[in-house]
Amino acid sequence: MSEAIVFVNGEYVPESEARISVFDRGFLFADGVYEVTSVIEGGLVDNAGHLVRLRRSLGEIGMSCPMSDEEITLMQKNLIERNQLEQGMIYLQVSRGAAPRDFAFPVDTKPSIVAFTQSRNVLSPPVVERGLTVVTLPDIRWRRRDIKTVGLLPASMAKQRAAEQGADDAWMVEDGYVTEGTSNNAYIIDREQRLITRPLSSDILPGITRKAILALAEESGMEILERSFTPEEAYQAQEAFVSSATTFVMPVVSIDGHAIGDGKPGPVVKRLRELYIDFARRTLS
Ligand code: PLP
Repeated sequence: MSEAIVFVNGEYVPESEARISVFDRGFLFADGVYEVTSVIEGGLVDNAGHLVRLRRSLGEIGMSCPMSDEEITLMQKNLIERNQLEQGMIYLQVSRGAAPRDFAFPVDTKPSIVAFTQSRNVLSPPVVERGLTVVTLPDIRWRRRDIKTVGLLPASMAKQRAAEQGADDAWMVEDGYVTEGTSNNAYIIDREQRLITRPLSSDILPGITRKAILALAEESGMEILERSFTPEEAYQAQEAFVSSATTFVMPVVSIDGHAIGDGKPGPVVKRLRELYIDFARRTLS
């Protein structure tokens, strides 16, 4: 297979020729933000929402976006085409750029912007049929989880610990309540078929997929409770799931070894996944 083409600061280059400075603050300080957009049928899923959040994240760290939305979208489409990507995701990262190493933000530094694609079965990965197992772990992340920064080491450590315990993922817990998954938002469905998920705040990332799911669930007549829940409440849930750009709606069938419902993906989550996939197709750009 020919080498992947990546986008680096205005150029499309083979992966092996891509270069970023050792002094890039994304590398030295995790001083950068990112977005992941799913690709299905060669098109971008709900990309407008991701670009809005990208600008917000940049604003929160005192940066402006080096490219317009139109330029970014054109670049993403170019990258999809050059890599002949049918299904998967496109990753986009903006960092503050290269400057002599100093903690305070440098002035007039040219931001770095990179993007690449990854092929992946997002529409029907086999794991959808069996569902995920998760374990709960302390949330050791920083206090601005609403900013989608590249500082992902705590999430990475949690995912690693989950894997060492034989689980697929971790739900992070703070002050006795679930915040979110390592790279997704967390939800439970109670016996009255109400959808329960933590409200937005700086404690969690405002998922673009979450926003769509809540709107779709409401349209379909479901009752939604945006409130925190404990792991103990989750053990008793009828169904549970996570959401993210690349997993869409993904059933969770076990939490800390407690089977959720009958331990198999349930009908409400299946339905929400179908609704989300219909929505995703409608947003393709
Ligand atoms: N929460 C965290 C911590 C994440 O890293 C992600 C996605 O990467 C999400 C939630 C889900 O966000 P989205 O639906 O926008 O992908």
